Amino acid sequence: MEKLASFQALGLSSNILSSLQHKGFEEPTPIQEKVIPLLMCGDKDLIGQAQTGTGKTAAFGLPIIEKIKVNKLTVQALILTPTRELTIQVAEEIHSLSGKKGLKIIPLYGGQSIELQLKHLKKGVHLVVGTPGRILDHLRRKTLKLKHLDFCVLDEADEMLNMGFIDEVETILEYTN
Ligand code: AMP
Repeated sequence: MEKLASFQALGLSSNILSSLQHKGFEEPTPIQEKVIPLLMCGDKDLIGQAQTGTGKTAAFGLPIIEKIKVNKLTVQALILTPTRELTIQVAEEIHSLSGKKGLKIIPLYGGQSIELQLKHLKKGVHLVVGTPGRILDHLRRKTLKLKHLDFCVLDEADEMLNMGFIDEVETILEYTN
């Protein structure tokens, strides 16, 4: 674990440090170094800008994993992404970073059976990753409640706005606390 001292210095727990070791991460990328301490100790909104492939998912994902209370089975974090591929990728990355914490994470995107999604949602989840259209669909059906969020992330926000998702994103935010 000595190798991971720079991650430890950012305030991450031993559970997370072992999943980082398992994934072969040795030191934080620049965006992780900047963002993780801010999200670990504060409740400020922030905008992170960095090239693709620079570790942005773990930059917001690691503090979210740390802050979620597993004994509370409510949706505590929402991550919106512009595409189904990114939704799946982000959900998998966060799952693999979460180690033994026992987080329930669900990807929600159009094109996947809504019944299957309903089944998982009924059992309760801590973290939802999804595309705006399908998230809004669940909110309108009242099969997803977002009144206990501690985190809301707009991943690739620029791309989401380029794709014309602004109205959906604003409507989704109206359903949140
Ligand atoms: P992302 O920019 O979040 O899509 O991450 C790009 C790739 O880098 C993913 O495969 C991550 O698992 C990996 N990655 C993220 N952070 C680190 C790190 N600190 N050290 C090594 N690999 C990393």
